[in-house]
Amino acid sequence: MTLVRPQPGTTFAVVGALAFAGCLIFGSADFSGDLANYASTAVALLAGVACLARAARLAGRLRLAWGAFGLGSLSYAVGEGTRTWTESIRGQEVPGPGLPDVGHLGMVLLIAVGLLFVPVPRQTIVNRVRNVIDALMIATSLLLISWIFVISPLFAQGSVASPAGSVALAYPVGDIILVTAALSMLALLRRGHPDTASLTLIAAAMLVIGVSGTIFAYAELSVGFIASEVPDIGWYLGFTLVFLGARRGAQQTEAHPAEPAGSRPFAILMPYAVVLSVLVFSIVWFAVHGHGDAFYSWCRSALILIIVARQLLTLLENRQLTATLESRVTTRTAELLASEQRSRALVSQSSDSVAVLEGDSTIRFQSDSVERIFGWPAQTLLGSRLIDIAGPQAGPVIAAALEEAGAEPYAVITVEVPLAHRDGRVRVAEMTITNLLGDPSVGGFVLNTRDVHDAHELQNQLVHEAYHDALTQLASRALFAEHLDEAMRVRPGPEVAVLFLDLDGFKEVNDSLGHAAGDHLLVQVAGRIRESARDGDTVARFGGDEFAVLVRSVVARADTEAVARRIVAAIGRPFIVMGRELHVSASIGIAVASEAADLQQLLRNADLAMYQAKTAGGGGWAGYHPRMHDLLVDRLALEADLRLALDRDEMVLHYQPTVDLRTGEVVGFEALVRWQHPVRGLVSPLDFIPAAEATGMIVQLGRWVLTQACRQAVAWARPVRMAVNVSVRQFDRDDLAETVAAVLAETGLPARRLCLEMTESVLMTDTEENLAQLRRIKALGVTLAMDDFGTGYSSLAYLRRYPMDILKIDRSFVQRLGGDSRDTALVRTIVDLGRSLGMETVAEGIELPQQLAALQTMGCDFAQGFLLSRPVPATEATHLLNAGLSSRLVFA
Ligand code: C2E
Ligand code: CA
Ligand code: CA
Repeated sequence: MTLVRPQPGTTFAVVGALAFAGCLIFGSADFSGDLANYASTAVALLAGVACLARAARLAGRLRLAWGAFGLGSLSYAVGEGTRTWTESIRGQEVPGPGLPDVGHLGMVLLIAVGLLFVPVPRQTIVNRVRNVIDALMIATSLLLISWIFVISPLFAQGSVASPAGSVALAYPVGDIILVTAALSMLALLRRGHPDTASLTLIAAAMLVIGVSGTIFAYAELSVGFIASEVPDIGWYLGFTLVFLGARRGAQQTEAHPAEPAGSRPFAILMPYAVVLSVLVFSIVWFAVHGHGDAFYSWCRSALILIIVARQLLTLLENRQLTATLESRVTTRTAELLASEQRSRALVSQSSDSVAVLEGDSTIRFQSDSVERIFGWPAQTLLGSRLIDIAGPQAGPVIAAALEEAGAEPYAVITVEVPLAHRDGRVRVAEMTITNLLGDPSVGGFVLNTRDVHDAHELQNQLVHEAYHDALTQLASRALFAEHLDEAMRVRPGPEVAVLFLDLDGFKEVNDSLGHAAGDHLLVQVAGRIRESARDGDTVARFGGDEFAVLVRSVVARADTEAVARRIVAAIGRPFIVMGRELHVSASIGIAVASEAADLQQLLRNADLAMYQAKTAGGGGWAGYHPRMHDLLVDRLALEADLRLALDRDEMVLHYQPTVDLRTGEVVGFEALVRWQHPVRGLVSPLDFIPAAEATGMIVQLGRWVLTQACRQAVAWARPVRMAVNVSVRQFDRDDLAETVAAVLAETGLPARRLCLEMTESVLMTDTEENLAQLRRIKALGVTLAMDDFGTGYSSLAYLRRYPMDILKIDRSFVQRLGGDSRDTALVRTIVDLGRSLGMETVAEGIELPQQLAALQTMGCDFAQGFLLSRPVPATEATHLLNAGLSSRLVFA
């Protein structure tokens, strides 16, 4: 059990009050009168000190308020003490007006001012005005009462005229001020104040002092005499309350947080209650005593006026409040309306149709958007069971989905079903079913349905695009890989083989006839491969001129070779593209799945085999052999070595003479590069020139050959012409003409003694740029030769357009000479063509005397070939130049 320690202030006040009461009841009149005086003086003194002490601990307006309370109490104590001292010690009446009156009225003034200083929460102007009106209302009512009981009798005595009388009048007026201030204070405090408890005590003290003062004055006036200690009860009680208020505040103010706003009704009704009770009382009084005067009437009229004013104010305030409220309600309503319209619009305009279904799929709600999406007005669907009207295909799917979603609250299931549009089309719809059966605001399945038909179509199209080659409609690499993967998974199963096919000479077609012609050709090639393959085989285009065939159920390798043979034959037949007859061939590589670890390796093997077929001259097939891997590794090693070959001085030039067919004299040499490899021995340019071209090494190598050849030509000191081969890749760089000029300047070889040989590919790729370069080289005075003429597709138009001086008839034509008369005719045509274009003709690869004889008869200008001389090192070439050809006999 906890002992509640009573506060010392309260104990003191209670003990004091008891002692005071005891004295009043049991003491003699004289003694108790003095005692009462001293007691109230002492309490006022204590209250004043307590208030000031409290003020010292506070700040701001509260400090001023408590200071005023303290000074007021002290003011009273001084006045009352002086009077008691004078009366009891000197035994004489104090004539008024004097210091006691000043003390008393000073107390009234100071405490009233103190109450004004009490800080209140911020208020609106209207509130402040109302507070003033309320105070006026209370004061007027009190004035009326005071008039009846005190003031009017004072006037009746006629003592008001004297100075002492007017001071006597000040007392009731002071009481009115105190009570008014106290009541107003109480009304304000009800609205919440951190210091409510202590301030309420102060207000109560003022009430007690004011009321008891008035009662005392009335008693004295009407009865004539009362015991002097009676009013002291009021003072004593009042200042005890002030003391308690000051003490209480000191102990609790800081600890208490702001109390919540009190009930407004008290603040509003209290002034009315005062007015009402006063009015009722005055009417009763008037009725009993039957007299009233002008002041009495004035007071009542003033009261009525004030009440009306207050009423008006309240009315105004209410109207303003209503207006604010109305506008807020209007705004909120508008907001709500807008948001509802938005959600309605969302439901009806969304690409989704929203529906709410009962447990058995009966449509309870259906958004209007369904009409826009599927053509059906929402009304026609309401009440029907969705699983009945969705159609034979969609119905069961939806039923199953509803059952699945129904099993778990808030489950969400999405299905795709075909739904009939009202116009008859069948559309793919995506339905999302949400189980809100347990949600009290929905109580059903929510169904969001979207038309995803177009998206589906697009998806299918995209898949088709990804899996098919747009040009040939064959399978794409992706689809081929998928089929191959499937076929390879069936193990043990039928053997699977891949044919990898690359066209020979396709680039030339594309370059010379344009891409449209190239595409045309590819479509026809695709058709022929398709025809050559069997029904179950997958034919794919991997891009460019690369094709692949997946051969399933291969009994033996021979089967696949049969397919390859058919393809080679089919492609060997001429194609008609844009009215022209074209000849292409195909190089095919064959690889079987049993020889590969996986799909990737199988494709690599087929690719390797194809490369092999191509290297062998094209127009045929090669089966994969593990040794091909070594060849590949070999090639890569060769490329690596090639990068170092020039620095290591491993390149050498051999020279093959060009002979005048009429005289048999050596008129020039063609420089042919060889690679003196430390391990491999002499490597043919056929084996490393492609690698040099692929790696870009050819530019460096080309310049080295050119310089070397020119130097040799100068060294020979005979007016022989030096022919140097130039790769089409050397034209990729813009500075070929500059390089040639620089080498000529460096070596001192006259430009006319240099001949640059190039194949038709130079004329067919990047034609405009290459033409410009050729013109610049030609402008140097260098001779230009068209190498390997007849193997490419260069048209006569090209020949006319390009500044070529020499036509070199390819070895393949020369070798056919002497046999078929048609071949002989062809070579003759070429020789005639060259002559008609003003070009010299050189026949390459003459191995047999009859070939030489035939060319002589045709009037071909020059000749090259093993029959005359193989390409030989420089020293031998020098010898040849000096001694002449041993095969000169042929010319005899
Ligand atoms: P090409 O320009 O057509 O050179 C003629 C090729 O035919 C030479 O082969 C030569 O040895 C060979 N040949 C000459 N007479 C006969 C004959 O009667 N019968 C046979 N069967 N062949 C004969 P080589 O030296 O192996 O050169 C091959 C190709 O390498 C050349 O063909 C040329 O395109 C290229 N090449 C050689 N040297 C260079 C070079 O320095 N630069 C460039 N870019 N290419 C070069
Ligand atoms: Ca050549
Ligand atoms: Ca040639």
